[in-house]
Amino acid sequence: MAKLFFRHAAMNSGKSTQLLQIAHNYEHQGRRVSLFTAAIDGRFGVGQISSRLGVSRSAAVFDATTHFDAQLVGAVDCVLIDEAQFLAPDQVCQLHRLAHLCDIPVIAFGLRSDFRGEPFPGAAWLLALAEDIEEIKTICLCGRKATMHLRVDASGRRLNQGPQVEIGDADRYRSVCARCFYAG
Ligand SMILES: [Zn+2]
Repeated sequence: MAKLFFRHAAMNSGKSTQLLQIAHNYEHQGRRVSLFTAAIDGRFGVGQISSRLGVSRSAAVFDATTHFDAQLVGAVDCVLIDEAQFLAPDQVCQLHRLAHLCDIPVIAFGLRSDFRGEPFPGAAWLLALAEDIEEIKTICLCGRKATMHLRVDASGRRLNQGPQVEIGDADRYRSVCARCFYAG
């Protein structure tokens, strides 16, 4: 039976690269995939999933009005979701149902927490419902495993306030371990 997968990591850990690799592997075997990314992520143009290694491809976008059902995803063998932290809780439920009722694996890639260390609602629901949860590892400047991230301003100073969702350049975020996160 298909499952809901959640692959989480701090920023700049290669999540999109892994997603694109999985899409490639499916298609190499003659199987079809459906790709989605958040409409609010305009870093590389709307509807693009881009790896920092230079590979990119177009994807359907989801926003708060998207309803993930069999009709939307089409006749595919796998659904891949980038920026899954931006899913609404009911959308995570829709994807969970899709996996179990339509037997289509759904692999969601995203962050767990925001720059203040607070959970994204979509990530909290993915952690609750996904049957297969795995961390994509990346390291902090100090050498420990990075599990969190901070937001910095244009001159590199840490920002502790601001909206949860503020899409910016990757260079406005730093992936850090929890010790560096709390020690500043
Ligand atoms: Zn550290």
